[in-house]
Order: sequence, then C-alpha cells, then structure tokens
Amino acid sequence: MPPSRKCSFCARPEEIVTYLVPGNKGAMICNFCVDEIVRQLEPLGMESRGQAPSGPSTHTSSKIRLLTPKEIKAHLDEYIIGQDEAKKVISVAVHNHYKRLTFKDHKPSTEDPADEEVEIEKSNILLAGPTGTGKTLIARTLAKILNVPFCIADATVLTEAGYVGEDVESILVRLLQAADYDVEAAQKGIVYIDEVDKIARKSDNPSITRDVSGEGVQQALLKLLEGTISNVPPKGGRKHPDQQLVKVDTSQILFICGGAFDGLEKIIEKRLSLQAVGFSQQQNRREIMHHNMFRFVQPVDLKRFGLIPELIGRLPVISFLDPLDKAALRNILTEPKNSIIRQFVRLFQMEGVKLTFEPEALDFIVEKTDEMKLGARGLRSMLEVIMREIMFDLPGQKIKKFTVTRALAEQEFNRSALSEVHLNPLYNKVG
Ligand code: ADP
Repeated sequence: MPPSRKCSFCARPEEIVTYLVPGNKGAMICNFCVDEIVRQLEPLGMESRGQAPSGPSTHTSSKIRLLTPKEIKAHLDEYIIGQDEAKKVISVAVHNHYKRLTFKDHKPSTEDPADEEVEIEKSNILLAGPTGTGKTLIARTLAKILNVPFCIADATVLTEAGYVGEDVESILVRLLQAADYDVEAAQKGIVYIDEVDKIARKSDNPSITRDVSGEGVQQALLKLLEGTISNVPPKGGRKHPDQQLVKVDTSQILFICGGAFDGLEKIIEKRLSLQAVGFSQQQNRREIMHHNMFRFVQPVDLKRFGLIPELIGRLPVISFLDPLDKAALRNILTEPKNSIIRQFVRLFQMEGVKLTFEPEALDFIVEKTDEMKLGARGLRSMLEVIMREIMFDLPGQKIKKFTVTRALAEQEFNRSALSEVHLNPLYNKVG
C-alpha cells in the first residue's frame, strides 16, 4: 500500500479528512485547514466563495461549499470511467441538495406570495446496475469531494428493531461519527445505502407472509428516508446501554441507495415486450434489446422486484450504471487518478523498481476479466494473481526495472487457481 497522503499544515492523513487540495511541489491542504483559514479571515470581511453562513458549531462540515453540477461531475470524472448518466444525475441531485441547504432560509423576492410557500423537497436517489460497475466508487468519491458528513451503510446487515442485527438507526450513528458528533452537520449529510436490492421482499404480493428481513427493514428505512426524528445512541447499539440518546432529524439528509438488482432486467424486458405489439414495435424491441435494460427502469419494475411502493416513492431519482465493456475495463486499469496499475507502479517505486506493463499484458488482463464477468472488481483479482510471484521474488533483489509482458501475465494466470475457476464450465454459466 502506498503511504497515505496527508495535509502539509496539520498532518492529518487523507483517511480522516473529506478532501485534500494539492498545491505546489506536492503540498496538500485539507478541508479542516481550509475552514480554519476561512474562519480566521471572516472577521476581516473576507468570506470565501460559496460558503454558507456558519452556525454556532465549529465543525467544518456544517459549512457547505456550493459546487456546480459540472464541478461535481468533473471531480467524479477523475476517478470514475464512463457511467456518464449516473454521474450527471448524482451531480445534479447533490448540487440541489446543497442549494436547498444553503438557501433554506432565503426568501425569494417575488411578486407572487404563493412562491414564498414553495418548499423544495429533497430527491433521494436510487442507483441500479451490475456489480463492480462503480456504484460504491461514485459514493466514495463523493465523500472525498464533498464538505458534508458522509457515510456508507450496508442494507444487508440491517434488521427491524428488536431483531438480531443492526437497527436502521445504526446508519445515523455512523453519520454522526462522520460529523464528529456535530448533530447539526450530520442532519445535512449524505448517506449511501449499498445492496438495497437485497432487502426486497420475495414477492410483489403483500398478502404473502411478511418477511422480516425484507419488508420490515424497508419500512424502517422508509421512515429515515421520508424524514423522522430518530433517537440515536451516539456510541452505537447495545454495548453502551447507559449513553444519552441524541435526537437526529433525517428530513434534510440525502440518501443514495444502490444495488445490483439481479433479475430486474428480466422484469423490465417483460414489461417492454408486453407493451410492444406489432411489427414496428418488434423492430423497436430488437433495438431496445441492444441497450442496457436498466436504462428503461420504471418505478413499476422496482415494485415487481419487491420494493414497497412507499419506499420507491421516496426515491424519485432513479439512475442506472452500464455494464463495463472491454474498452471501459482497459481504461479503468490505467486512467483513473488512483488506477490499479498506478497503485502497483507506486508500490514498486517504493522498492526503487521501475515497473512497466506491456500494452499486450494489459489487453490479456482485460480479456480474462471480461470473461469472468466480475466487473472492474475482477481486474484487481487478476492483477493480484499475476503479480503474486513477482511481488514475492523481487524485493531484496538488485533489479531496477521490471516489465510485465503478455507471456508472463499468461504464465502466471495459467498456474493460478483463478484459471481453474475460469475453465470450470459451471462457473462460466454464472452471470
Ligand atoms: P459496485 O457497483 O458493485 O458498487 P464498486 O464501485 O465497488 O462496484 O467497484 C469495485 C471496484 O472496481 C472499485 O473500487 C474500482 O476500483 C473499480 N471500478 C468499478 N467501476 C469503475 C468505474 N466506472 N471507473 C473506475 N473504476 C471502477
């Protein structure tokens, strides 16, 4: 692992800051120091651009930088290959979220008194798309570029209150922690809930016996999403029964829910084929089939998949991620700021070795990853396998340069367990 970068002013490592802004000659400044500077400049009448007026809290996250959707997307572009539609949708939603918060108390100068009554509701987001295509990465990258508290939660560990597992409130504990226990800041935060598809009820028919893990959790989540005042144990669940509960209002928190939604394509396809009758529609249909089915997702499909209508109603922005083709996988290997190849090169650099990859070696990695249908996640497994022996052998030797050729990549792959899995016909049927 490369050493983590840190702020040149306060030495906080990048893991505990929201973002690090690079400066000249490798210098970095973190959001905490930027806010400290702003605070010191404010009495001099020098407000920074886009800062919301600061409340009584000193927590940095209570101040919001209003980035434009284009700015947010440009940041996302640095790390995420493709997925333009999802990046745009998220950028707009996050920008609007900021705007609502920044101008919450701002009264429009308008002739029509009815305008003053307009209250802009938040638009929680649902991201559907195959595994390993960048949903979590988008969320993580947002965390880096945003100046609001942010956390990621996994829907599969959540249960209805009273059952073994984590209560839905545990999400808010995490958010509070991300906000340094500043409740006001946490209430303006963003939460990414992963694997939300796994809490779908098994049948779209509500009369079928209630399943605890599915519908119950959806109901509990629904409360958070639509806005509730939740009593949160700040140190988390059951280990600290004596702690004082903190009230957190979730009405301003932006929720982004993601999931692979395996099987949703079939539901969408069925609806589309039912709708299409006649020759021209058949033609139309054939064209549609060439696309990513998720592109055509409608709330009704999500209901059939097993999400309760109330929850769907609270996720008005639906976007999708495309499966990654070979060209996208190839780009993911080398293009993003912290691409896997860059990470390996850096790892060897620390050892004083200049590591390079033959383009044909990269092609081989992409071909095999594509065949495995693991999305970009497979790229790392492939590289780990191919580099395993090399990483074992090289340290300590006086080698200054090393090139990974296609022949070497093939050889290392073929003698790995991964190739056996890969050759297994049963495995190939998966996905
Ligand atoms: P999921 O869609 O299942 O949430 P992830 O976002 O966790 O997938 O992706 C797994 C890994 O694959 C990421 O950490 C990243 O390294 C890589 N990856 C996936 N999609 C992309 C993408 N569109 N651009 C760049 N890297 C990607």
